[in-house]
Amino acid sequence: MRKQIAAANWKMNLTLTEGEALLDAISAKPHSLAPNQEAIFAVPFPYISMAQAKVGAKTNVYVAAQNCSNKLSGAYTGEVSVTMLQSMCVKYVVIGHSERREYFNESNELLAQKVDTCLENQTTPIFCCGEPLVIREAGTQNDYVAGQLTESLFHLPEASISKLVIAYEPIWAIGTGKTASSEQAQEMHAFIRSHIASKYGASVADSISILYGGSVKSANAVEIFGQPDVDGGLVGGASLIADEFVAIINALKK
Ligand code: PEP
Repeated sequence: MRKQIAAANWKMNLTLTEGEALLDAISAKPHSLAPNQEAIFAVPFPYISMAQAKVGAKTNVYVAAQNCSNKLSGAYTGEVSVTMLQSMCVKYVVIGHSERREYFNESNELLAQKVDTCLENQTTPIFCCGEPLVIREAGTQNDYVAGQLTESLFHLPEASISKLVIAYEPIWAIGTGKTASSEQAQEMHAFIRSHIASKYGASVADSISILYGGSVKSANAVEIFGQPDVDGGLVGGASLIADEFVAIINALKK
């Protein structure tokens, strides 16, 4: 069975002390991860060591970065490279979150470079894709998402693409409280899988975990994660509340 993942995206939230308290509160609440399940905490760069010290030794729990540079080293003040992350034993990096695409003008081409640097440095990208509201209203979301995947991922050889995690996050559902219905999520996840299968074949497509993101909370996680092509979630707001995130972990398919 594909890996089922509950990934927390803290974004630019919480002080160090608040982050420590959140991880302590989550650890103290009853939850368990089956062998095919993982919990991932994508924390701000300065909190990576703290988070690793708190939860990094737990089975199937990983600390992730929320971004990395497309460059590996050099005179790029303020940037963080995947080689730095790898040297800190960071296993996952979120690449192409819609907030980075929108506020930092990250293009599909730049994201292809970031994906390459991750894979060349044994770090798994959690590659985000998803359409804005105007595209959903026009009914062209499949073409839009297919374009994101094709332009950022389809240069990869089969052995590399199968290492990726994909997160489908419709922009109109991120931080808005508007969740895609479980049917809308399933429809797009199945489409993403079929698009990958059209280039790499069904067994590669079937092996890739595809997470849903967009106002996931304890009240909707069981239904969304229960869809056959949904393999867990990338969670923003609800990941900042211990009870909510623990319930989301417990909603993963076994
Ligand atoms: C996200 O940050 O990727 C996200 C989906 O946020 P939220 O859960 O708050 O919509």
